[in-house]
Amino acid sequence: MQHFPIFLDTAGRRIVVSGGGDAAVAKLRLILKTAATVEVFAENADPAIEAWAADGVLTLHRRALADGDAEGAMLVYGASEDDAADTRAKTIAEAAGALFNWVDNLEQSAFITPAIVDRDPVTVAIGTEGAAPVLARHIKRDLEDRLPVALGALARIGKAFRGAAEALPFGRARRDFWSDYYLRSGPPAYEKAGETGALEALDWLLERHLAETPKVGRVALVGAGPGDPELLTMKARRALDEADVVIHDRLVAPEILELARREALLIEAGKEGFGPSMKQDDICALMVEHAARGAYVVRLKGGDPSVYGRLDEEVDALDAAGISWNVVPGITAASAAAASLGQSLTKRDRNSGVRFLTGHDVKGFAEHDWRSLAKPGEVAAIYMAKKGARFIQGRLMMHGAAPDTPVSVVESASRPDQRVLATTLARLAADIDAGNMTGPAILMYGLAPRAAEAALPALNEEQA
Ligand code: SAH
Repeated sequence: MQHFPIFLDTAGRRIVVSGGGDAAVAKLRLILKTAATVEVFAENADPAIEAWAADGVLTLHRRALADGDAEGAMLVYGASEDDAADTRAKTIAEAAGALFNWVDNLEQSAFITPAIVDRDPVTVAIGTEGAAPVLARHIKRDLEDRLPVALGALARIGKAFRGAAEALPFGRARRDFWSDYYLRSGPPAYEKAGETGALEALDWLLERHLAETPKVGRVALVGAGPGDPELLTMKARRALDEADVVIHDRLVAPEILELARREALLIEAGKEGFGPSMKQDDICALMVEHAARGAYVVRLKGGDPSVYGRLDEEVDALDAAGISWNVVPGITAASAAAASLGQSLTKRDRNSGVRFLTGHDVKGFAEHDWRSLAKPGEVAAIYMAKKGARFIQGRLMMHGAAPDTPVSVVESASRPDQRVLATTLARLAADIDAGNMTGPAILMYGLAPRAAEAALPALNEEQA
């Protein structure tokens, strides 16, 4: 973040604009929304500026910006669309200790003006470090479509009600009240009867929320998917949005944890396959403890919680403590890996079934029905298999699997650092050693990546 977004208090301050053409008018449209005293310096001013001056919303000096004009100003905009004039404005602004913005010249500016979604007092500032103004405008439009126009008014009315709302206990109860107001009851009430409607809604909402019995805690056991935040389910998103406490595995990508409600308590339970970890009993105790205190606990697990996630132990512990729970499924690593290979997990005339296996269990390298796996056409997704690759390879070869059986090792499936290692059973262990894989990896036995060349003509045909 080279440019840090902040909100400046403009009340009683001066903002100076040097220039009177289109660039100045565009900036003034934004600046005039602030509480600042606005001064424009321009020998020739656009009629819009003349009109603002006549209305008294800004002061127009019909001359170029000169030494001393920026004294005491908070912001100075160089909007002359003339390099020599803007260079002068920069010198004058800097001498006065004001922050200077050269319109459309990122390098020469001390700050940039973001794209703004204005639902005053709710304002959203969008910046892309100058990299993608089109994207910023797109996000702005998107947000404007989604935020009710009345939101600003609702916020203003709501602000005055904050004291009354303190009758509700701090935390969840008060938050529920406010989301009810802003997202459900407030907008229609305001639409129907303006400020009076919104105030009435606040009154009866408060009454209703005060009458409600305090919330009981609960636990959602949620699949976080393989890593790409866009592969979260909408239910998982919602759970993260509402969670009071998030207890997550180390496998859960940081981008996903970012989505948790800002006030949520994040606890890393450290489990990563069978690696060093918080003891399972401690994790169970932690969930129970927080839920018993009334918190909404999200137990966030990589992939799908029902696949090598020790779901049953956690559910048993919750049942034993009488805490209600639900499971939100997620996309398991095998699905993401198959997608990255462009292959299906099952295929007519090849394999009518697919196995999920673990390379490792509590006792060490895991034993499986190697004889049936060694048959041609078998497919298995082997989790936690990096360390046990040599063992798996040995067992399968010993039971007669073809040395050239394809195996794909997919590391960090669906994440930006995803890697696919396409190999064969005979070369598996050596290739993994040489591959230097540090991320989570899944071994897709019996599947090779669909060749990129083979995929291409099909794509072209579709486009034609
Ligand atoms: N519940 C998880 C699996 C937990 S066991 C799921 O459904 O995916 C942990 C193992 O899952 C890792 O050792 C690795 O084998 C696999 N894994 C999880 N995320 C992965 C990813 N993004 N890419 C490749 N393998 C992954």
